[in-house]
Amino acid sequence: MTGNPKCIVCGRAIKKRVETIWVQPVSDSAASFPGARVKADLRTRADCQRHSNHQVISVSKNRSGLVTAFNVWDGQSYHCEFFCTNSCAMDQGYASARHGDRFTWKERAR
Ligand SMILES: [Zn+2]
Repeated sequence: MTGNPKCIVCGRAIKKRVETIWVQPVSDSAASFPGARVKADLRTRADCQRHSNHQVISVSKNRSGLVTAFNVWDGQSYHCEFFCTNSCAMDQGYASARHGDRFTWKERAR
């Protein structure tokens, strides 16, 4: 797929599906993340990038300017193929139903 997919209902960009990598700063004992995957003092996006093969798209830092988490994206995954939110998916569903569409791929409860 090329470019960021847009919601078919409202046209907004569909969110990227990202993975959060938690970071334990070595020199800041106050910040404790037992499950942190990375234990290092990271200050820049480039520092973070060295810890992942996926693209770093956002970085969170503490008051000392040390990275405590960053988000990476695999370059292709989005939250949804068609809609930005469940609300837009519902709008599409109602519009489709009003239009007369009746999809019956689910078995009815007996
Ligand atoms: Zn939408």
